[in-house]
Amino acid sequence: MQEPTSLRFLGAAQTVTGSTFLIQGHAGRVLIDCGMYQGSRELRRRNWATFPVAGHDIDAVVLSHAHLDHCGWLPRLVRRGFNGPVHCSPWTAKVAAIVLRDAAHLQEEEAEYAALRGYSKRRPPLPLFDTTDAERAISLFRELDHGALKQIAPRLSVRLHRAGHILGSSTVEAQAAGRTVVFSGDLGRDSHPLLNPPDPLPEADVVVVESTYGDQVHGPRRADDIAEPIRSALAGELHLVPGKEESKRLNQPHRPSIIATTSSPGSNQRRRLRRPATSYTASWKPPTPCPTASTPSLAGAPSFLSTPSAF
Ligand SMILES: [Zn+2]
Repeated sequence: MQEPTSLRFLGAAQTVTGSTFLIQGHAGRVLIDCGMYQGSRELRRRNWATFPVAGHDIDAVVLSHAHLDHCGWLPRLVRRGFNGPVHCSPWTAKVAAIVLRDAAHLQEEEAEYAALRGYSKRRPPLPLFDTTDAERAISLFRELDHGALKQIAPRLSVRLHRAGHILGSSTVEAQAAGRTVVFSGDLGRDSHPLLNPPDPLPEADVVVVESTYGDQVHGPRRADDIAEPIRSALAGELHLVPGKEESKRLNQPHRPSIIATTSSPGSNQRRRLRRPATSYTASWKPPTPCPTASTPSLAGAPSFLSTPSAF
């Protein structure tokens, strides 16, 4: 008898990170997103939990977008034997590569720091994944254009639709065993100065919707909202803040730490780099300052920021 096809929620249930959905049955075995848990220690601990499916038993992964809570567990899945294709939009492939390399570097740095300070229960402290895992995951990316239908498992096809959330973000339409399931992914606003609005949702039997801001009404994004952060970033602005508590904990003389303004594209999170600022300032090359203008200007921005029709 054929195994019925089912949908299983492996993350982002009763919390907003770790988005991972498993479609399995005679249609195939496919993950939609493979996200990392972020936030509290208890949530981050879930990244180390056993996964209910062996990596080599998964036919393919589809990524909705490049935020860590949707793609950040992929290198760990690779470490656990996954070697299949990872389908995503061309821009998601580009951005996710940056995000995963950065995440691997941070994991390695965190393990190194834990070993130095002896606060980890693991002996020796280990990264969740390392740069080798991240590079192997990135090598599995297969670009899929928005609107194109592609068969990725014996009886399972997917089509990506624009989600308007970040560069390359997608809503995933999965056609499996005669049914259509739509995963909204994170959805953007109808009006954005850089991104195309989300495509209308396709007809579906089941819709899985991200609902983090489901109880709020967001107004349109204006160019002014994003021009200033881009200008200051291009001008090489770093935020230097006192790291007194950290200095006390490390029993070191106080030195400022660098605060990186984002941990992943689109994120508001700030993170403190754990090394003294001097080790970073040595390699920091401020780019040519962007002229400050009274009206919003993206002059000097990377070219993809001025070509919204590309995504
Ligand atoms: Zn997102």
